[in-house]
Amino acid sequence: MKKTEKKLTIHKERCKGCQICVLYCPKKALSIGEKLNKLGYRYVVLSKEDACTACGICAEMCPDVVIEVWRDNE
Ligand code: SF4
Ligand code: SF4
Repeated sequence: MKKTEKKLTIHKERCKGCQICVLYCPKKALSIGEKLNKLGYRYVVLSKEDACTACGICAEMCPDVVIEVWRDNE
C-alpha cells in the first residue's frame, strides 16, 4: 500500500514570521526557525513533518500566501 504523500511548500522569502500559521496549526507542526529570510524575518518551518496531516489550515490562514499544501492520496 502506497503511503499517502504529504507535501507542504513554504515560500520562505515571503514569510514575515507573524506566527498566525503556528498558532492555528492543530498539530503544532509549525514553528518559527532560527534563520532569517531576505526580508530579515525569522521564517516559519515545518518542524514536525510527521505530525502534519496536510489539512491546509496554515495555508488558509497565512495572509501572505507563504504556504502551499499538496495532497496526493492516489
Ligand atoms: S497542513 Fe495542517 S497540520 Fe500541516 S502544518 Fe499546516 S495546519 Fe499544520
Ligand atoms: S507563513 Fe504566513 S502566517 Fe506563517 S508566519 Fe509566515 S507570514 Fe505568518
